[in-house]
Amino acid sequence: MFNLQMVDLKRQYEKIKPEIDAAIQNVLNSTAFIGGPDIHAFAKELAEYVGVKHCIPCANGTDALQIALMALGLEPGDEVITPSFTYIATVEVVALLRLKPVFVDVDADTFTMNADSLKKAITPKTKAIIPVHLYGQCANMDAILAIAKEHNIPVIEDNAQAIGGSYTFADGTTKKTGAMGTISTTSFFPSKNLGCYGDGGAMFTNDDELAEKLKMIANHGQKVRYYHEMVGCNSRLDSIQAAILRIKLRHLDEYCDARRAVADYYDNAFKNNAHIVTPFRAAYSHHVFHQYTLQLKNVDRDEVSRLLTERKIPNMLYYPVPSHKQKMLEAFGGAEYQLPTTDMLQECVISLPIHTEFAEEELAYIVKNVNEVIDELTKA
Ligand SMILES: *Cc1c(COP(=O)(O)O)cnc(C)c1O
Repeated sequence: MFNLQMVDLKRQYEKIKPEIDAAIQNVLNSTAFIGGPDIHAFAKELAEYVGVKHCIPCANGTDALQIALMALGLEPGDEVITPSFTYIATVEVVALLRLKPVFVDVDADTFTMNADSLKKAITPKTKAIIPVHLYGQCANMDAILAIAKEHNIPVIEDNAQAIGGSYTFADGTTKKTGAMGTISTTSFFPSKNLGCYGDGGAMFTNDDELAEKLKMIANHGQKVRYYHEMVGCNSRLDSIQAAILRIKLRHLDEYCDARRAVADYYDNAFKNNAHIVTPFRAAYSHHVFHQYTLQLKNVDRDEVSRLLTERKIPNMLYYPVPSHKQKMLEAFGGAEYQLPTTDMLQECVISLPIHTEFAEEELAYIVKNVNEVIDELTKA
């Protein structure tokens, strides 16, 4: 009946096609494929948008995290605290750099780093904390930043899922996600809230020295060409992606509003279903709904997922296996970890389609099917 997708990039592109096509053609005409003027303009515009002094584009969100950790000058074996309940990239880069990932639990309502769990995980070897603004909701930054400050530990915000969101501190000041950490990182993977048409990422900081270092590491450790001061890597955003992102950045707030409107629709439609817990919206956070993720109660989540797929209703489990249970990371924990909320969420979360281009009939159709499937499975 409908051709539903988790994310509809085609309809979004069609709406801005003339602008995008012209921007791409402009790069083609210039042949400045790497390091052209769009890169610098985009970095400046995005830094202004987020409210941070420096934005350093790079090849993807995973590289952004890796380079951020490299810039902090950590030693092998240093501990880095992350939530287990995140996309694997957050943790993978820690292990890749021979650092030690230390996993903490998340809050059952916001799905983001739990402050008590963080407090207990800190040791003299803790050298970085990476909160993740999961699904578009900002982590509890008042608590996290206070703990980090007390122990003088840098914070890297993994803002891959929440660009455009914001956080209001207890004192009333509001900052955009990505503007609060020592360094923050994001991804422009096509399905992210600010997505390009390939791979891309960026790092942000207010610290001039760190900015210089991030830039050097992303460029083979050089400031002056062919004079390499430190071991780095090759991580660039290309000019075509930057040109696309400059246009999409102008639409970002409108895209976030469209996602929030979809979330409102779903929230309202599911509010009387006793088997569904709709996403919590923390008062301190402007949630930008990268994902719309339900918790299912007293119904077999995997069966719900299977039956929805049978009915051609796209749905995803983000994430079926938390980091501390991944084979890749078995050297770093596994059974020794007690993360009850993470375990609980692993069993009950399911994400529904969310994007910027829905027609109301499509949402109604999704909701009807979700409610029907749950009814079917819970009828006595
Ligand atoms: C997408 C994502 C990343 C990685 O971004 P890529 O551009 O795919 O490398 C990192 N962390 C989180 C939380 C993400 O969702």
